[in-house]
Amino acid sequence: MSTPEQYDAIVIGSGEAGKWMAWTLGAQGQRVIALEDKRIGGACPNVACLPSKNLVHSAKVASFFQRGPEFGIVPGDWHVDMAGVNARRQRLVDHNVQVHLANFAKSHSEIVMGFGRFVAERTIEVALNAGGTRTLRSDRIFLATGSRATIEPIPGLTESKPLTHIEALELTVLPEHLIIVGGGFVGLEFAQAMRRFGARVTVVERNPSLAHQEDPDVVEGLQQLFHDDGIEVIADAEISRVEGLSGTSVSLYLQLPSGKTVLQGSHLLVATGRTPNTQNMGLEVVGIKTTPAGHIQVNDRLETTAPGVWAMGDCAGSPHFTHISYDDFRTVRDNLGGANRTTAGRQVPFCAFIDPELAHVGLRESEAKRQGIPYRLTKVSMQSNLRASTISETRGFIKALVSSDDRILGFTAFGADVGELLPVVQLAMSANLPYTAIRSLIVTHPTISEGLVTLFSAVPSLTPNTPAPGGH
Ligand SMILES: Cc1cc2nc3c(=O)[nH]c(=O)nc-3n(C[C@H](O)[C@H](O)[C@H](O)COP(=O)(O)OP(=O)(O)OC[C@H]3O[C@@H](n4cnc5c(N)ncnc54)[C@H](O)[C@@H]3O)c2cc1C
Repeated sequence: MSTPEQYDAIVIGSGEAGKWMAWTLGAQGQRVIALEDKRIGGACPNVACLPSKNLVHSAKVASFFQRGPEFGIVPGDWHVDMAGVNARRQRLVDHNVQVHLANFAKSHSEIVMGFGRFVAERTIEVALNAGGTRTLRSDRIFLATGSRATIEPIPGLTESKPLTHIEALELTVLPEHLIIVGGGFVGLEFAQAMRRFGARVTVVERNPSLAHQEDPDVVEGLQQLFHDDGIEVIADAEISRVEGLSGTSVSLYLQLPSGKTVLQGSHLLVATGRTPNTQNMGLEVVGIKTTPAGHIQVNDRLETTAPGVWAMGDCAGSPHFTHISYDDFRTVRDNLGGANRTTAGRQVPFCAFIDPELAHVGLRESEAKRQGIPYRLTKVSMQSNLRASTISETRGFIKALVSSDDRILGFTAFGADVGELLPVVQLAMSANLPYTAIRSLIVTHPTISEGLVTLFSAVPSLTPNTPAPGGH
């Protein structure tokens, strides 16, 4: 081993959690090095959140062309040019990388392309992408290595060379018939976008429905949306084997409750969850334990089982969202500065960027029922939202669960631009404000946010008989 180069901090992984740690400590004047084996900035700006939302928006534009007559616009000859869609995505990604490089430079934190692994306590060896190795030493090591698409051990699946989100984002030719395995949010966003570009799309889901963890009214709304968009959904499906090659012709052998069937398509996309990037990193060399799922074991301060080593983001098993990776970074940063922050009980908002959006925070109605938590339900249709009417996007609803002492327990919205409603509701929840605080706001007319006033004006009043466990 060469003589280690001494740093104040080593960060492995330049995704959301890692880059913020590197930039922050670097800007404080510490000698910091960040290691990145693939993409500067990690998944979000390169192959996940941002390029997928870029694709979703191109698909929205295509849907406007399809709906032109509804708006009094008579479209002429038009077609989707996937090469153009891809070029727009690439411009965004290239820009993102430049912004990241500038931030590394500005914060005087070093970024090195290569794969890092523990070779001894507090010591990392990096196999440089350009060739050769460097040995680094620090009393503070931050692991933020993220996750990758899971390829399940289904016979023939690997051999069929399926697309993951990475290759699907780079398609320059529209698939004739795209089969998507997995009806979670990644699968749903791709399904709708590709359908709107004109592909035939079939989603194969092993659970009884798409987004099966959501409330029944949400699932019903999603199913109706996909039906109306012309997306085929095969639920309750076990894939026994795969034959063929994605991009040419691929066959899925399915076991359904009704019997066996074979589904044939031109392309296959797998979206069946994430595998943490925690292999071959020498974690065992320094006593860093992992969970049975392969995540790095951390406590609620994101400390690993080795002193001076923290793990953040997807690799630590935190909910897989960029904003959660960012909050992991903030938790560790603040604790380094003497605070006592934990990840326990924090809000985990999310938004699925299908069209219309699905946004949620807090308790779900089905969870409240299961746990016998009393609540009052308020729910309004997007049809009553005047802004939604003006833009002809009246599909969906917003709903909230309210406690007997007027606190908001949970909020779910399925409708146009509803992801933007979350922070207002979150603020009320985190400040422990009663729902009436939102109800009494003067909200600009006509905005989608006005729906919050409508929603919280419709909370059933408490009567001697309410709230019954499970609402009404
Ligand atoms: C298609 C898709 C869409 C998504 N959309 C959203 C969304 O809209 N909103 C949202 O909040 N979340 C979204 N997510 C989830 C989000 O992208 C992730 O939760 C987030 O990027 C995780 O950040 P991270 O910091 O944990 O790691 P990552 O961003 O995964 O970064 C980790 C980096 O570390 C590198 N690395 C790994 N091991 C090593 C090593 N040993 N040495 C050096 N480098 C290493 C990896 O190559 C990677 O670049 C989406 C995910 C996908 C797949």
